[in-house]
Amino acid sequence: MAEAAKVGRTALKTATLAGWGNHPRVECAVARPETVPALRTAVDEDLGDPRRIARGLGRSYGDPAVSDAGVVLDCTRLDRYLDFDPATGTLTCEAGTTLEMILRDFAPRGFLPMITPGTKFVTVGGCIANDVHGKAHHVDGCFSRCTESFRVLLADGRILNASPDENADLFWASFGGMGLLGVIVDATIRLRRVETTFFRQTALSVPNLDAMLDALDAHQDVPYSVAWVDALATGAALGRGVVTMGDHATLADLPERQQAAPLAISSPSPLVLPFELPSAALNTATVRLLNLVLDQVQKRGAAIAHYEKFFYPLDFVGEWNRGYGPRGFTQYQFVVPLKGGRENIRELLSTIAASGQSPFLNVLKRFGAERPETLLSFPFEGYTFAIDFPVRDGLTELLAALDARVLAMGGRVYLGKDAFLQRDTFEAMYPRLDRWRAVKAKYDPDSVFSSNLGRRLGLSR
Ligand SMILES: Cc1cc2nc3c(=O)[nH]c(=O)nc-3n(C[C@H](O)[C@H](O)[C@H](O)COP(=O)(O)OP(=O)(O)OC[C@H]3O[C@@H](n4cnc5c(N)ncnc54)[C@H](O)[C@@H]3O)c2cc1C
Repeated sequence: MAEAAKVGRTALKTATLAGWGNHPRVECAVARPETVPALRTAVDEDLGDPRRIARGLGRSYGDPAVSDAGVVLDCTRLDRYLDFDPATGTLTCEAGTTLEMILRDFAPRGFLPMITPGTKFVTVGGCIANDVHGKAHHVDGCFSRCTESFRVLLADGRILNASPDENADLFWASFGGMGLLGVIVDATIRLRRVETTFFRQTALSVPNLDAMLDALDAHQDVPYSVAWVDALATGAALGRGVVTMGDHATLADLPERQQAAPLAISSPSPLVLPFELPSAALNTATVRLLNLVLDQVQKRGAAIAHYEKFFYPLDFVGEWNRGYGPRGFTQYQFVVPLKGGRENIRELLSTIAASGQSPFLNVLKRFGAERPETLLSFPFEGYTFAIDFPVRDGLTELLAALDARVLAMGGRVYLGKDAFLQRDTFEAMYPRLDRWRAVKAKYDPDSVFSSNLGRRLGLSR
């Protein structure tokens, strides 16, 4: 970050920020308030352009937490615990608290986050704003299912309670609301009581897409399930991959050695990718090799796995996003309905495999039912597929073509990963958007809360 300049009472820095995909990179004015009064000042104070957007740990892939207009409010210093009830596992914390902190401090007491995405380096505020989902979506739903209430700082300086009983419109619109209604100051969430921090896990190697979807469909009663597809396989082998499934391990499930420390947490991974690899490093041969390695890791996964390996295999290498080189990458995640889902997934996978865009990491999963009270939450009952693409010539065209097909199939794209979707396609994908816009007009009539994503998709000005 460049030198801080004090404008009024708020210290501002200029920094080039991006999401996890490092695309786009945007020059931003950034404030990093340490207290709620300082946050309120940073929203209220005349800093030139009135627009503001909250940012957590920047783990969204695209442009929801960057803004080339106004000020980005880095909320990571607002990370205090405010209350914890061990009888119910209910935690109240500031919104910059991370799942990594919660694991470190509460796993040894027998509590895990109820809902977690595939990285622990996310803030509670970010989890609400994207209504994140995990491997157990079909059983547990999204982050909204473990959130009891939160407080939101509005553009006019008021801090409102939001829960299903109080300002319920603000509460439900904030899940998937991408920080565009106000800044979540603190939240009350439920943690899950566990006997151990380990999981029972099985991996099933499947030869093609039908076998993969059969396996996912047949194991809907298993709480955690996700599949990894070899995105380069074509023809009869299209959709070949590994389905992994699991559930919380009880004390009795653990081998004797682990029974001595059933609530073990892990130390930070020492592995960090130190610099960006040149784009050329990620050619098709590398991708094939990496896919093969992942395949082996998954297949040989131990029957008992620590949460670190079970939930967060990608966190093992810090800053792995640098591997995609200076142009960055995007993750394309869509969901299509169960009806016609097999044929549709087959078509989309075939298009991706034939695209020559060297897709890499990917997961396929079956989502459970959506929560109808939420307005912009992404998941609904169907098959979801997420796949990384390095940013290269031709990618914009490929994604636009995929967007059009996903829309025609009755599907939608996840904003938490997106940097490319066009406004008209987005508007057609999210049927409760008008209701969300009415909530935006009520609580943020001057569209103070605005990001690059908000302006790209017409969610803010
Ligand atoms: C390796 C990896 C795996 C992932 N796996 C999954 C997955 O399995 N499922 C899933 O759903 N997602 C997944 N994600 C995406 C990630 O969980 C979400 O993007 C999450 O929202 C990021 O949180 P963050 O704190 O980094 O927020 P940021 O990326 O910094 O911000 C995300 C949004 O939250 C808003 N926001 C942040 N703080 C606040 C606040 N205090 N008040 C109001 N708005 C706020 C921002 O304005 C922005 O719109 C993954 C990401 C990575 C890098």
